[in-house]
Amino acid sequence: MTRTISILGATGSIGASTLDLIRRNRDQWKVVALTANSNAAELSALAREFSAEIAVVADESHLASLRDALVGSGIATAGGPAALTEAASRPADITIAAIVGCAGLAPTMAAIEQGRTVGLANKEALVSAGDVMMQAVARYGTTLLPVDSEHNAIFQCLAGNDPANVRMITLTASGGPFRDWTAEQLAAATPAQAVKHPNWDMGAKISVDSATMMNKGLELIEAWHLFPVGLDKLRIVVHPQSIVHSMVEYRDCSTLAQLGPSDMRVPIASVLAWPTRMDTPCAPLDLAAIGELTFRAPDELRFPATRIARAAAEAGGAMPAVLNAGNEVAVAAFLAGKLSFTRIALEVEALMARFAPPAPTSLEDVIAVDAEARALAVQMLEPA
Ligand code: NDP
Repeated sequence: MTRTISILGATGSIGASTLDLIRRNRDQWKVVALTANSNAAELSALAREFSAEIAVVADESHLASLRDALVGSGIATAGGPAALTEAASRPADITIAAIVGCAGLAPTMAAIEQGRTVGLANKEALVSAGDVMMQAVARYGTTLLPVDSEHNAIFQCLAGNDPANVRMITLTASGGPFRDWTAEQLAAATPAQAVKHPNWDMGAKISVDSATMMNKGLELIEAWHLFPVGLDKLRIVVHPQSIVHSMVEYRDCSTLAQLGPSDMRVPIASVLAWPTRMDTPCAPLDLAAIGELTFRAPDELRFPATRIARAAAEAGGAMPAVLNAGNEVAVAAFLAGKLSFTRIALEVEALMARFAPPAPTSLEDVIAVDAEARALAVQMLEPA
Protein backbone atom coordinates (compact mmCIF):
# COMPACT_ATOMS: atom_id res chain seq x y z
CA MET A 1 0.00 0.00 0.00
CA THR A 2 1.37 3.45 -0.90
CA ARG A 3 1.33 6.17 1.75
CA THR A 4 1.79 9.88 1.23
CA ILE A 5 4.39 11.86 3.17
CA SER A 6 5.51 15.47 3.56
CA ILE A 7 8.83 16.44 5.10
CA LEU A 8 9.18 19.90 6.61
CA GLY A 9 12.91 20.59 6.88
CA ALA A 10 13.81 18.04 4.18
CA THR A 11 17.35 19.38 3.67
CA GLY A 12 18.37 18.97 7.32
CA SER A 13 19.82 16.07 9.25
CA ILE A 14 16.42 14.57 10.22
CA GLY A 15 15.14 15.25 6.70
CA ALA A 16 18.11 13.36 5.21
CA SER A 17 17.65 10.39 7.56
CA THR A 18 13.92 10.25 6.75
CA LEU A 19 14.54 10.42 3.01
CA ASP A 20 17.20 7.72 3.29
CA LEU A 21 14.53 5.35 4.63
CA ILE A 22 12.01 6.44 1.96
CA ARG A 23 14.64 5.93 -0.74
CA ARG A 24 15.03 2.28 0.35
CA ASN A 25 11.27 1.76 0.13
CA ARG A 26 10.36 3.92 -2.85
CA ASP A 27 7.37 1.84 -3.97
CA GLN A 28 5.65 2.35 -0.59
CA TRP A 29 5.75 6.14 -0.50
CA LYS A 30 4.52 9.09 -2.50
CA VAL A 31 6.09 12.43 -1.54
CA VAL A 32 3.78 15.43 -1.32
CA ALA A 33 5.73 18.44 0.03
CA LEU A 34 9.44 18.93 0.71
CA THR A 35 10.57 22.15 2.35
CA ALA A 36 13.77 24.01 3.27
CA ASN A 37 14.74 27.46 4.43
CA SER A 38 17.29 28.56 1.84
CA ASN A 39 19.06 25.51 0.42
CA ALA A 40 17.35 25.57 -2.98
CA ALA A 41 20.03 23.44 -4.65
CA GLU A 42 19.59 20.49 -2.28
CA LEU A 43 15.83 20.91 -2.10
CA SER A 44 15.43 20.87 -5.89
CA ALA A 45 17.63 17.76 -6.18
CA LEU A 46 15.52 15.97 -3.54
CA ALA A 47 12.26 17.14 -5.11
CA ARG A 48 13.34 15.72 -8.47
CA GLU A 49 14.66 12.48 -6.99
CA PHE A 50 11.45 11.84 -5.03
CA SER A 51 9.03 13.36 -7.60
CA ALA A 52 7.56 15.65 -4.96
CA GLU A 53 4.32 17.48 -5.72
CA ILE A 54 5.67 20.76 -4.34
CA ALA A 55 8.98 22.19 -3.07
CA VAL A 56 8.96 25.23 -0.81
CA VAL A 57 11.66 27.55 0.52
CA ALA A 58 10.74 29.57 3.59
CA ASP A 59 13.16 32.31 2.61
CA GLU A 60 11.51 33.79 -0.45
CA SER A 61 14.76 35.27 -1.77
CA HIS A 62 15.72 31.71 -2.80
CA LEU A 63 12.52 31.02 -4.72
CA ALA A 64 13.92 32.15 -8.08
CA SER A 65 16.81 29.68 -7.90
CA LEU A 66 14.41 26.91 -6.78
CA ARG A 67 12.17 27.67 -9.78
CA ASP A 68 15.14 27.68 -12.18
CA ALA A 69 16.37 24.36 -10.84
CA LEU A 70 12.95 22.73 -11.19
CA VAL A 71 11.93 24.18 -14.54
CA GLY A 72 10.29 21.55 -16.75
CA SER A 73 9.99 19.05 -13.87
CA GLY A 74 6.26 19.54 -13.29
CA ILE A 75 7.01 20.09 -9.61
CA ALA A 76 5.23 23.10 -8.10
CA THR A 77 7.38 25.66 -6.27
CA ALA A 78 6.61 28.30 -3.68
CA GLY A 79 8.38 30.58 -1.21
CA GLY A 80 7.76 32.43 2.03
CA PRO A 81 6.30 31.52 5.42
CA ALA A 82 2.66 31.50 4.22
CA ALA A 83 3.53 29.15 1.36
CA LEU A 84 5.35 26.89 3.82
CA THR A 85 2.26 26.67 6.01
CA GLU A 86 0.04 26.08 2.97
CA ALA A 87 2.31 23.20 1.86
CA ALA A 88 2.17 21.71 5.36
CA SER A 89 -1.61 21.71 5.19
CA ARG A 90 -1.69 19.70 1.94
CA PRO A 91 -3.18 16.28 2.69
CA ALA A 92 -0.49 13.71 3.57
CA ASP A 93 -0.85 10.47 5.52
CA ILE A 94 2.16 11.47 7.60
CA THR A 95 4.11 14.72 7.97
CA ILE A 96 7.59 14.73 9.46
CA ALA A 97 8.04 18.05 11.28
CA ALA A 98 11.81 18.54 11.13
CA ILE A 99 12.36 22.28 10.82
CA VAL A 100 14.78 23.60 13.43
CA GLY A 101 13.53 26.19 15.90
CA CYS A 102 10.27 27.97 16.57
CA ALA A 103 10.20 28.81 12.84
CA GLY A 104 8.65 25.35 12.46
CA LEU A 105 5.71 26.11 14.72
CA ALA A 106 3.13 27.45 12.24
CA PRO A 107 3.75 24.75 9.59
CA THR A 108 3.73 22.03 12.28
CA MET A 109 0.40 23.34 13.56
CA ALA A 110 -0.93 23.32 9.97
CA ALA A 111 0.10 19.67 9.66
CA ILE A 112 -1.54 18.87 13.01
CA GLU A 113 -4.76 20.54 11.85
CA GLN A 114 -5.04 17.95 9.07
CA GLY A 115 -6.02 15.48 11.79
CA ARG A 116 -3.74 12.74 10.41
CA THR A 117 -0.28 11.67 11.64
CA VAL A 118 2.62 13.97 12.52
CA GLY A 119 6.10 12.68 13.35
CA LEU A 120 7.49 15.43 15.57
CA ALA A 121 11.22 16.17 15.60
CA ASN A 122 10.85 19.96 15.93
CA LYS A 123 11.03 20.08 19.74
CA GLU A 124 11.26 23.90 19.90
CA ALA A 125 7.72 24.14 18.46
CA LEU A 126 6.26 21.93 21.19
CA VAL A 127 8.31 23.61 23.95
CA SER A 128 7.05 27.03 22.84
CA ALA A 129 3.44 26.17 22.06
CA GLY A 130 2.96 23.44 24.71
CA ASP A 131 -0.71 23.41 25.67
CA VAL A 132 -1.79 25.19 22.48
CA MET A 133 -0.24 22.43 20.37
CA MET A 134 -1.46 19.54 22.53
CA GLN A 135 -4.99 21.00 22.53
CA ALA A 136 -4.89 21.11 18.71
CA VAL A 137 -3.71 17.49 18.64
CA ALA A 138 -6.73 16.52 20.77
CA ARG A 139 -9.19 18.74 18.90
CA TYR A 140 -8.22 17.45 15.43
CA GLY A 141 -7.76 13.83 16.55
CA THR A 142 -4.16 13.84 15.29
CA THR A 143 -1.75 11.01 15.96
CA LEU A 144 1.42 12.67 17.26
CA LEU A 145 4.42 10.34 17.13
CA PRO A 146 7.69 11.49 18.76
CA VAL A 147 10.78 11.33 16.54
CA ASP A 148 13.22 12.57 19.18
CA SER A 149 15.07 9.40 20.22
CA GLU A 150 14.35 9.79 23.95
CA HIS A 151 10.63 10.46 23.48
CA ASN A 152 10.35 7.76 20.89
CA ALA A 153 11.95 5.39 23.42
CA ILE A 154 9.49 6.46 26.13
CA PHE A 155 6.59 6.11 23.71
CA GLN A 156 7.71 2.54 23.00
CA CYS A 157 8.19 1.75 26.72
CA LEU A 158 4.71 3.09 27.54
CA ALA A 159 2.94 1.01 24.88
CA GLY A 160 -0.04 -0.80 26.35
CA ASN A 161 0.55 0.60 29.86
CA ASP A 162 -1.60 2.91 31.91
CA PRO A 163 0.36 6.16 32.60
CA ALA A 164 -1.21 6.11 36.09
CA ASN A 165 1.12 3.17 36.86
CA VAL A 166 4.28 5.14 35.99
CA ARG A 167 6.58 5.87 38.94
CA MET A 168 9.35 7.66 36.98
CA ILE A 169 10.36 8.45 33.41
CA THR A 170 14.12 8.76 32.93
CA LEU A 171 15.48 10.70 29.97
CA THR A 172 19.01 9.70 29.13
CA ALA A 173 21.56 12.32 28.03
CA SER A 174 24.90 11.66 26.37
CA GLY A 175 26.27 14.68 28.23
CA GLY A 176 27.57 16.09 24.94
CA PRO A 177 31.14 16.66 23.81
CA PHE A 178 32.09 18.63 26.97
CA ARG A 179 30.68 16.37 29.64
CA ASP A 180 34.08 15.89 31.31
CA TRP A 181 35.39 19.42 30.79
CA THR A 182 36.22 21.74 33.67
CA ALA A 183 34.45 25.09 34.15
CA GLU A 184 37.60 26.84 32.82
CA GLN A 185 37.65 24.69 29.69
CA LEU A 186 33.93 25.28 29.12
CA ALA A 187 34.40 29.05 29.25
CA ALA A 188 36.77 28.79 26.28
CA ALA A 189 34.79 26.22 24.22
CA THR A 190 34.52 27.12 20.52
CA PRO A 191 31.64 26.59 18.07
CA ALA A 192 33.74 24.06 16.12
CA GLN A 193 34.25 22.00 19.28
CA ALA A 194 30.58 22.30 20.30
CA VAL A 195 29.15 21.01 17.02
CA LYS A 196 31.31 17.86 17.13
CA HIS A 197 29.04 15.50 19.03
CA PRO A 198 30.72 12.26 20.12
CA ASN A 199 27.75 9.95 19.36
CA TRP A 200 25.23 11.67 17.08
CA ASP A 201 25.51 13.40 13.71
CA MET A 202 23.07 16.34 13.93
CA GLY A 203 22.40 19.91 12.81
CA ALA A 204 24.46 22.75 14.33
CA LYS A 205 21.77 24.15 16.66
CA ILE A 206 20.85 20.87 18.36
CA SER A 207 24.55 19.98 18.63
CA VAL A 208 25.20 23.17 20.62
CA ASP A 209 22.07 22.46 22.70
CA SER A 210 23.47 19.03 23.40
CA ALA A 211 26.79 20.53 24.51
CA THR A 212 25.10 22.97 26.92
CA MET A 213 22.56 20.31 28.02
CA MET A 214 19.78 22.73 27.00
CA ASN A 215 18.75 19.99 24.59
CA LYS A 216 17.90 17.84 27.62
CA GLY A 217 16.10 20.78 29.21
CA LEU A 218 13.99 21.25 26.06
CA GLU A 219 13.37 17.50 26.05
CA LEU A 220 12.21 17.59 29.64
CA ILE A 221 9.54 20.13 28.66
CA GLU A 222 8.76 18.12 25.52
CA ALA A 223 8.25 14.97 27.64
CA TRP A 224 6.10 16.90 30.13
CA HIS A 225 3.65 17.69 27.29
CA LEU A 226 3.80 14.35 25.50
CA PHE A 227 3.51 12.09 28.54
CA PRO A 228 1.23 13.62 31.18
CA VAL A 229 2.72 12.04 34.31
CA GLY A 230 3.76 15.34 35.95
CA LEU A 231 7.11 17.13 36.11
CA ASP A 232 8.08 15.43 39.38
CA LYS A 233 8.07 12.08 37.58
CA LEU A 234 10.56 13.18 34.95
CA ARG A 235 14.28 12.97 35.57
CA ILE A 236 17.51 13.07 33.62
CA VAL A 237 20.49 10.74 33.84
CA VAL A 238 23.75 11.05 31.94
CA HIS A 239 24.53 7.94 29.89
CA PRO A 240 27.64 8.61 27.79
CA GLN A 241 27.24 5.62 25.44
CA SER A 242 23.80 6.74 24.06
CA ILE A 243 22.62 3.13 23.81
CA VAL A 244 19.74 3.26 26.30
CA HIS A 245 17.54 5.99 24.81
CA SER A 246 15.25 6.41 27.82
CA MET A 247 13.36 4.37 30.42
CA VAL A 248 10.01 4.06 32.15
CA GLU A 249 9.80 2.74 35.68
CA TYR A 250 6.43 1.40 36.88
CA ARG A 251 4.90 1.24 40.36
CA ASP A 252 6.07 -2.37 40.79
CA CYS A 253 9.71 -1.18 40.31
CA SER A 254 9.87 -2.79 36.89
CA THR A 255 11.82 -0.56 34.49
CA LEU A 256 11.39 -0.81 30.72
CA ALA A 257 14.16 0.67 28.58
CA GLN A 258 14.55 1.04 24.83
CA LEU A 259 18.02 0.37 23.44
CA GLY A 260 19.39 0.89 19.95
CA PRO A 261 22.26 2.26 17.89
CA SER A 262 22.86 6.04 17.99
CA ASP A 263 21.29 6.55 14.58
CA MET A 264 18.16 8.65 14.13
CA ARG A 265 16.98 6.30 11.38
CA VAL A 266 15.92 3.89 14.15
CA PRO A 267 13.34 6.18 15.83
CA ILE A 268 12.33 7.64 12.46
CA ALA A 269 11.68 4.11 11.14
CA SER A 270 9.56 3.35 14.19
CA VAL A 271 7.47 6.45 13.41
CA LEU A 272 7.20 5.71 9.66
CA ALA A 273 6.15 2.11 10.24
CA TRP A 274 4.05 2.63 13.39
CA PRO A 275 2.20 0.63 14.63
CA THR A 276 4.25 -2.08 12.87
CA ARG A 277 8.02 -2.23 12.17
CA MET A 278 10.27 -1.84 9.15
CA ASP A 279 13.88 -2.69 8.29
CA THR A 280 16.65 -0.11 8.70
CA PRO A 281 20.20 -0.21 7.31
CA CYS A 282 21.59 0.25 10.84
CA ALA A 283 24.01 -2.26 12.35
CA PRO A 284 22.30 -4.23 15.14
CA LEU A 285 23.55 -3.61 18.67
CA ASP A 286 26.50 -5.75 19.72
CA LEU A 287 26.25 -5.46 23.50
CA ALA A 288 29.26 -7.71 24.13
CA ALA A 289 31.40 -5.39 21.96
CA ILE A 290 29.98 -2.30 23.70
CA GLY A 291 30.82 -3.95 27.02
CA GLU A 292 29.75 -1.27 29.45
CA LEU A 293 26.70 0.93 29.86
CA THR A 294 27.31 3.61 32.47
CA PHE A 295 25.05 6.18 34.16
CA ARG A 296 25.66 9.23 36.33
CA ALA A 297 23.74 12.19 37.71
CA PRO A 298 23.84 15.42 35.68
CA ASP A 299 26.12 18.19 37.00
CA GLU A 300 23.91 21.28 37.07
CA LEU A 301 26.75 23.49 38.34
CA ARG A 302 28.76 23.11 35.14
CA PHE A 303 25.62 22.66 33.00
CA PRO A 304 22.82 24.82 34.51
CA ALA A 305 20.54 24.55 31.44
CA THR A 306 18.49 21.62 32.74
CA ARG A 307 17.82 23.45 36.00
CA ILE A 308 16.76 26.58 34.09
CA ALA A 309 14.48 24.58 31.78
CA ARG A 310 12.83 22.84 34.73
CA ALA A 311 12.23 26.28 36.30
CA ALA A 312 10.60 27.42 33.03
CA ALA A 313 8.32 24.38 33.07
CA GLU A 314 7.44 24.97 36.72
CA ALA A 315 6.61 28.61 35.96
CA GLY A 316 4.48 27.34 33.04
CA GLY A 317 2.43 29.69 30.84
CA ALA A 318 4.65 31.57 28.40
CA MET A 319 7.94 30.85 30.20
CA PRO A 320 8.98 27.79 28.12
CA ALA A 321 8.48 29.91 24.97
CA VAL A 322 10.67 32.64 26.50
CA LEU A 323 13.30 30.03 27.42
CA ASN A 324 13.28 28.66 23.88
CA ALA A 325 13.44 32.07 22.18
CA GLY A 326 16.30 33.17 24.46
CA ASN A 327 18.16 29.97 23.75
CA GLU A 328 17.74 30.25 19.97
CA VAL A 329 19.14 33.80 20.06
CA ALA A 330 22.01 32.86 22.40
CA VAL A 331 22.99 29.77 20.38
CA ALA A 332 23.01 31.81 17.16
CA ALA A 333 25.22 34.42 18.87
CA PHE A 334 27.57 31.68 20.11
CA LEU A 335 27.80 30.12 16.62
CA ALA A 336 28.56 33.60 15.23
CA GLY A 337 31.43 33.99 17.70
CA LYS A 338 29.65 36.75 19.62
CA LEU A 339 28.93 34.96 22.91
CA SER A 340 30.97 32.59 25.03
CA PHE A 341 29.74 29.05 25.55
CA THR A 342 29.04 29.41 29.26
CA ARG A 343 27.03 32.62 28.72
CA ILE A 344 24.39 30.79 26.62
CA ALA A 345 22.40 29.36 29.56
CA LEU A 346 23.00 32.47 31.68
CA GLU A 347 21.57 34.75 28.97
CA VAL A 348 18.48 32.54 28.85
CA GLU A 349 18.09 32.75 32.62
CA ALA A 350 18.52 36.55 32.55
CA LEU A 351 15.85 36.86 29.86
CA MET A 352 13.43 34.75 31.91
CA ALA A 353 13.99 37.05 34.89
CA ARG A 354 13.13 40.12 32.78
CA PHE A 355 10.23 38.92 30.67
CA ALA A 356 7.17 37.09 31.97
CA PRO A 357 4.29 37.61 29.52
CA PRO A 358 0.82 36.15 30.12
CA ALA A 359 0.15 32.55 29.11
CA PRO A 360 -0.54 32.21 25.38
CA THR A 361 -3.88 30.73 24.41
CA SER A 362 -3.54 30.64 20.61
CA LEU A 363 -0.91 30.08 17.95
CA GLU A 364 -0.83 33.83 17.30
CA ASP A 365 -0.15 34.45 21.02
CA VAL A 366 2.79 32.02 21.01
CA ILE A 367 4.26 33.60 17.87
CA ALA A 368 3.92 37.05 19.48
CA VAL A 369 5.62 35.91 22.72
CA ASP A 370 8.41 34.29 20.69
CA ALA A 371 8.96 37.46 18.64
CA GLU A 372 8.98 39.73 21.68
CA ALA A 373 11.28 37.46 23.65
CA ARG A 374 13.70 37.27 20.72
CA ALA A 375 13.79 41.04 20.31
CA LEU A 376 14.55 41.49 24.00
CA ALA A 377 17.17 38.73 23.96
CA VAL A 378 18.95 40.39 21.00
CA GLN A 379 18.83 43.73 22.80
CA MET A 380 20.28 42.19 25.97
CA LEU A 381 23.21 40.83 23.94
CA GLU A 382 24.11 44.22 22.53
CA PRO A 383 27.13 45.82 24.18
CA ALA A 384 26.05 48.44 26.77
P1 NDP B 1 19.21 20.94 10.59
O1 NDP B 1 19.80 22.24 10.92
O2 NDP B 1 20.09 19.86 10.07
O3 NDP B 1 18.02 21.14 9.50
C1 NDP B 1 17.03 22.08 9.72
C2 NDP B 1 16.03 22.09 8.59
O4 NDP B 1 15.09 23.16 8.83
C3 NDP B 1 16.62 22.35 7.22
O5 NDP B 1 15.81 21.73 6.24
C4 NDP B 1 16.52 23.87 7.11
O6 NDP B 1 16.56 24.35 5.75
C5 NDP B 1 15.17 24.10 7.74
N1 NDP B 1 15.04 25.44 8.30
C6 NDP B 1 15.97 26.12 9.04
N2 NDP B 1 15.50 27.34 9.39
C7 NDP B 1 14.25 27.42 8.87
C8 NDP B 1 13.28 28.46 8.84
N3 NDP B 1 13.49 29.65 9.45
N4 NDP B 1 12.11 28.22 8.20
C9 NDP B 1 11.89 27.05 7.60
N5 NDP B 1 12.79 26.03 7.54
C10 NDP B 1 13.96 26.22 8.18
O7 NDP B 1 18.41 20.46 11.87
P2 NDP B 1 18.19 18.96 12.41
O8 NDP B 1 17.67 18.10 11.29
O9 NDP B 1 19.35 18.53 13.19
O10 NDP B 1 17.02 19.20 13.47
C11 NDP B 1 15.69 19.46 13.05
C12 NDP B 1 14.79 19.41 14.30
O11 NDP B 1 14.81 18.07 14.81
C13 NDP B 1 15.28 20.30 15.46
O12 NDP B 1 14.16 20.80 16.14
C14 NDP B 1 16.04 19.34 16.36
O13 NDP B 1 16.03 19.74 17.71
C15 NDP B 1 15.23 18.05 16.17
N6 NDP B 1 15.99 16.84 16.40
C16 NDP B 1 17.10 16.57 15.65
C17 NDP B 1 17.85 15.42 15.87
C18 NDP B 1 19.03 15.09 15.02
O14 NDP B 1 19.61 14.02 15.21
N7 NDP B 1 19.45 15.94 14.11
C19 NDP B 1 17.47 14.48 16.94
C20 NDP B 1 16.25 14.82 17.61
C21 NDP B 1 15.55 15.97 17.35
P3 NDP B 1 17.99 24.80 5.07
O15 NDP B 1 18.73 23.51 4.83
O16 NDP B 1 17.58 25.47 3.83
O17 NDP B 1 18.68 25.69 6.06
